[in-house]
Amino acid sequence: MIEYNESLYVSKDLSVREELLKRHHDDLLAKHFDADKISELLDRKYYWKSMIKNIKEYINACDICQRVKMKRHLSYDKLKSLLQLTNSWKEITMNFITNLSSSKWKEVMYDSILVIVDHYMKMMRYLFMKKTLTVIELAELFFEKIVLKYEISNNVKDWVLN
Ligand SMILES: [Zn+2]
Repeated sequence: MIEYNESLYVSKDLSVREELLKRHHDDLLAKHFDADKISELLDRKYYWKSMIKNIKEYINACDICQRVKMKRHLSYDKLKSLLQLTNSWKEITMNFITNLSSSKWKEVMYDSILVIVDHYMKMMRYLFMKKTLTVIELAELFFEKIVLKYEISNNVKDWVLN
């Protein structure tokens, strides 16, 4: 045996190559692996120049592989329907667009916009804000511009702002 880059060099003896391909493709434990898998397995221990070509030829000559397409992935899950929303302003997202050029409105300078999207109605609200907005100010802004405006009657503590 000759070693080549820590792999065993397989001579041109076709019976040896054929035996290795058989062991890595259609032996009991091999499960008719595809060319990539066989190549990965053989590459760990063996080397011969036309290995990839021989693997593909071997698979093309395999009667079972030509008749059956093997399932090589996990079965697909059943489709799940999306969460059904039943009320507006229950599921929202907030995005902050910051570092805009400053603009004055009603004597106050703003440099950012808060975008709130209600997923039930697909409604968007754009609110002027400052980049330095605190959490308390955000809560007050949200309460004034959303909770009061849309008369959200549910208990505010039930809100989950993810
Ligand atoms: Zn096969």
